Amino acid sequence: MAGIYIHVPFCRHKCTYCDFVSFPNRMDVAEAYMACVIKELEMRGKELEGRSFDTVYFGGGTPSVVDPKYIYAVMRKIKESFTLSARPEVTIEINPGTVSEQKIATYKRAGINRFSIGLQTAIDAQLEDLGRIHNVRDYLYCTSLLKGENFSADIMLGIKGQTREDVRKTVEIAAGSGAKHISMYALTPEDGTPIYTDYLNGELPGGDEVAALYDYGRALLAQKGYARYEVSNFCKKGFESRHNLNYWRRGEYVGVGVSASSFMSGRRLLNTSDLDEYMKCILSGFFPVIDCEEVSERDAKFETVMLGLRTVYGFSPAAYRQTFGSDWKEDFAAAYKKTKEFLLEEGDCVRIRDEYLYVQNTILAEYAD
Ligand code: SF4
Repeated sequence: MAGIYIHVPFCRHKCTYCDFVSFPNRMDVAEAYMACVIKELEMRGKELEGRSFDTVYFGGGTPSVVDPKYIYAVMRKIKESFTLSARPEVTIEINPGTVSEQKIATYKRAGINRFSIGLQTAIDAQLEDLGRIHNVRDYLYCTSLLKGENFSADIMLGIKGQTREDVRKTVEIAAGSGAKHISMYALTPEDGTPIYTDYLNGELPGGDEVAALYDYGRALLAQKGYARYEVSNFCKKGFESRHNLNYWRRGEYVGVGVSASSFMSGRRLLNTSDLDEYMKCILSGFFPVIDCEEVSERDAKFETVMLGLRTVYGFSPAAYRQTFGSDWKEDFAAAYKKTKEFLLEEGDCVRIRDEYLYVQNTILAEYAD
């Protein structure tokens, strides 16, 4: 089954580390943009008739910054134009500085049943330094509105001045708030973002320090009953993100909105990242696609191995043989020879050994050659 991704590119304020496609000063076009998303859904729905979709994901930007009536209207259009599974997983990303009781009630009425909340850190001074609009009290208020719901908390490693004690406090707050799922990401300083200057000045923790914070955070999460299922993702039993698992299993998805990408019928499509161009295309009845690429067999093989190895579930050599009619070890003979000591091969499953999952990028780089 496939997934649907909706990109909501608005934010109150640009965070210092952000290089996502988000427009802090364009809230004035939010209504027109969401109307275009609805139109694009209608266009895609016709094209994808007959397919079944199991997940919907509102990402951004900050989907929770727009009036919830737009999210409701988008969900209504999805139900009208697409075939959803019996119990779809429907997630919305939430910035804790933007929620209210009324918004959460509207989301639930719209059919949203999973909430992904950007906590990042439980240290207010660090949140301010990152340019986040929320503080820890906002996070706690937000989670109090979601008591008993399926929600995830994002936490970030590699923040300027971050200590083990800060990570401990952050994990305690995230776990104590009732999150069923926790994503623990390392901050990547991207060229062109304000934080990149801190990086160049050597003010951010180095790779070894971040790795040590990750090991520490991972141990704390394990103690609290969160099992790692992907390098950055941990959850209580049965609360994996189905939407992300679909990506890692190389499942199909349709992306709607500015900068959204899709993978359908062996082709990858990319929508324009220019907000005005996106709306112009949709209003003229065209798909806003700027890139369309047929995935070659070599790339499909690489993606199968690479995406599978990112998770603790690995990939199945038998399924690989069935799909491609060849043996993965022969297809990637040189890479396999160099990396086999890091792999665990059990029955019909190949995965990266637990202790090496954090350095997966170095291992996977061998397969990209
Ligand atoms: S809230 Fe997210 S998308 Fe918006 S500016 Fe901050 S990091 Fe970027």
